[in-house]
Parts: sequence; structure tokens; C-alpha cells
Amino acid sequence: MTARILDGAAVARTIREEVAARVSELAVRGIRPRLDVVLVGDDPASQVYVRSKARACERAGIASETHRLPAETSQAELEALIDRLDADPEVDGILVQLPLPPGLDTHRVLDRIDPEKDVDGFHPENVGLLVQGRPRFVPCTPAGIMELLDREGIAIEGRHAVVVGRSDIVGKPMALLLLHRHATVTVCHSRTADLAAVTRRADILVAAAGRLALVGPDHVKPGAVVVDVGIHRLTERQDVERLFPGDAARRARFEEKGSVLTGDVDFVRVAEVASAITPVPGGVGPLTIAMLLANTVASAERRKGGA
Ligand code: NDP
Repeated sequence: MTARILDGAAVARTIREEVAARVSELAVRGIRPRLDVVLVGDDPASQVYVRSKARACERAGIASETHRLPAETSQAELEALIDRLDADPEVDGILVQLPLPPGLDTHRVLDRIDPEKDVDGFHPENVGLLVQGRPRFVPCTPAGIMELLDREGIAIEGRHAVVVGRSDIVGKPMALLLLHRHATVTVCHSRTADLAAVTRRADILVAAAGRLALVGPDHVKPGAVVVDVGIHRLTERQDVERLFPGDAARRARFEEKGSVLTGDVDFVRVAEVASAITPVPGGVGPLTIAMLLANTVASAERRKGGA
């Protein structure tokens, strides 16, 4: 392997320490940030995410409450909970875990969150502020990627950044953040013709398509920086062997746990071409949670601390 590993887990640790220091400063003034998480239904992946968010809050000294609602919850019931959290002066951040079960209108729910408490940055007011380059809350995954690039000393200005994926959560805000930092930005999606020809022009390539190993060595210009947002669970031994030939540690983890995580990038082969690359796990995932904590503390500083 030739690429430098961009250690998202280490950067996330540093961010979490910075957050904890800000929490301590608030504590001196009797202020405790609080994040409320709303989980509707019993999607197993969502349960895991919600638990890890609550644990991360606890470790950072942030109060957190998880509101678990059954999958049959009505739109009106969910909106009533949001209204209650909006009105509660103790609550600094409200996060509705997505996806919501079928039958619930995600946009109507997100629109209902007080934009001053919208730590995920999905409310249209916060999206608008981001578009205009005067962000309040930036969606956590792309915000974390910008922190990683900056803290790893990766230049952005004047470089060609290609983002694969155009979701409201990752792709679009990622493209905007890179654009505001003076990258030349191309956004690809499922209808992009000849994806590899476009991604091969990238100095910075962000893969956020949700497609296992979509980005192979042919998609990457030699020396490019590659950021892998995708999360996929490999449950078949042959997939682990195909994607990670000779990786004894990953193989052992698979044998122990019955699955391993990987991303949208064919890591082993792309690492031979790229100059720097994020791993999965240990890349973008930990940064996402760290930025959620940072957004929550920023909200508390603004709302309760007069910042
Ligand atoms: P979405 O499914 O909402 O969006 C995927 C995007 O990728 C769409 O814009 C889609 O295009 C595009 N796409 C799909 N297939 C292709 C293809 N073959 N070629 C080019 N573009 C394609 O996903 P998210 O943005 O929510 O998440 C993307 C991935 O990132 C997932 O694996 C998810 O699990 C992971 N994720 C990880 C996080 C982390 O913390 N590490 C946080 C959030 C997500 P179109 O618009 O045309 O359909």
C-alpha cells in the first residue's frame, strides 16, 4: 500500500477532547448542554447509531435523552414530541434519527425542529444559510470531512473535488463546503455518464453513493486524496477475501464477529493509487459523531451561554 491513511478516529478523538474542554467551561457557569434524540421504530442500524450517539454524549459530559417511539407512531404524535422539545429551554439539540418508518413525512418533521436546535443541519433555514456561505449548523458528516482534510493538511483551494452522491445529508452539503473553500467541484450521481472518467479528474474524491466498492483503482487519479463515506457490512467470507486479500487482521475480525465493515471504495486497490485515503471503519464515521457533539455544544454556548 502506498497511500497515507487519514486517521478519522484520531482526529475525532481530538475534536471530542476539544468539545469536552468547552463543556467544562460551560459547567463552571452551571450550564450543561443537552441533546435529545428521537428514534421511531426498531431499525437495527438506527438503534446502533442512536446508542453510540448517546454514549458519546455521556463521555463528553453532554446530557442526552433518547425518545423511543413505536413504528406505528402517527405524524401528529411525532410532531407533538418535536413541539415539546422545541419549547423546552433545557434542550439544545434535537436529532431525529433517519430514515423514519414508511408513512411518516420526513420533510414535515425536520421542518418542525427549531432551526436554533437543529444540530443535524437539515432544516431548510440552516440549509439556506449553508448555501449562502454563512452556516449555523453544518450537517455532521460533511463537516467532519472538512475537519479531517484541514487537520491532515490537505489543501482544498484551487483543486478539483469530485463528490459521488447528491443526498441532502452528505453529497450536497459536501459539495457546498468544498465550493466555499474554493475547490472546483463536480457532483456525480446515479445518472452520471462514465463515472470513472469524471472521478479520474479529481484531486479530492469523496465517495458517498452507498454502493459497495463502487470506486476502484480505475476511478482514481494517481496521487488523489480519497474520502470514503460509505458504510457496508460484509457478511460473506468470499467478499472479505475478494476485497481484502491477504488482510489477516480483517479476516480474523470477520471470523470473530461474523461480519466486517467496508465502504464505497475498493480500499486495498485504491490505496495503491491514491496519496491519502480514509479507512472504513475508523475514517468518516467517528468524525460524524464528533461533529454532532461539537454542534450541540455550539448550540448550548449560543442559547445558554450568551455566545
Ligand atoms: P443516499 O442513498 O441518500 O444517496 C446516495 C447518492 O449516491 C445518490 O445521490 C445517488 O444518486 C448516488 N449514487 C447511487 N449509486 C450510484 C452510482 N452507481 N454511481 C454514482 N452515484 C450513485 O445515501 P447517503 O448520502 O445518505 O449515504 C451514502 C453512503 O454513506 C451510505 O453508504 C451511508 O450508509 C453512508 N453514510 C455514512 C455516514 C458516516 O457517518 N460515515 C453518514 C451518512 C451516510 P441519485 O441521486 O441519482 O439516486
